[in-house]
Amino acid sequence: MTLIAVSKTVSIELIREAYDAGHRHFGESRVQEALPKIAALPGDIVWHFIGKLQSNKARRAAEAVHVLHTLENERQLIEIAKAHRTVEGFIEVNLAREPQKSGVLSENLDALIAKVADYPQVLLRGLMTVGPYEATPDEKRVLFRALKGLAREELGLVALSMGMSADYEIAIQEGSTHVRVGSAIFGDRA
Ligand SMILES: *Cc1c(COP(=O)(O)O)cnc(C)c1O
Repeated sequence: MTLIAVSKTVSIELIREAYDAGHRHFGESRVQEALPKIAALPGDIVWHFIGKLQSNKARRAAEAVHVLHTLENERQLIEIAKAHRTVEGFIEVNLAREPQKSGVLSENLDALIAKVADYPQVLLRGLMTVGPYEATPDEKRVLFRALKGLAREELGLVALSMGMSADYEIAIQEGSTHVRVGSAIFGDRA
């Protein structure tokens, strides 16, 4: 299981403290914020991009980070390919079908997976989801279990990026391989 310390809004100094304590996986959600941090911090950090990935920033993101957690359309893939670099990827799934939320609906997953296969620059590892903010623990468990079923049984994808500060315990119980934890590590964001 990989613990991604979500360092959005966190200062370079504080990230370095976590690095000095031995942590190596960090997650950022805005390209403009991530780039100076990546440039300033040691090269053996594994950077995960977990925010909404606008296609006009996808190339810069793919040049700088190692893992993209929020793949959702082919426009991103076209731009990522221009980075001429291999990145690992997760497709974000809007499992709870929230209208305002990013990610693909499960019925569109097969088509996107077929597209990703056309881009050797993206090594597809698995699926990612963000549990609905207002969902109860039981509702989140049902969603996390569904993501696992979709990834493992239907698609043969092993990695599962699910679980944040509020729900990482449930996510781990349901088989998460990548938890994205920010405030529980660094404190509340301003
Ligand atoms: C901010 C963020 C996190 C971390 O949230 P916390 O509640 O601080 O743990 C995880 N995943 C995504 C997609 C985020 O945007």
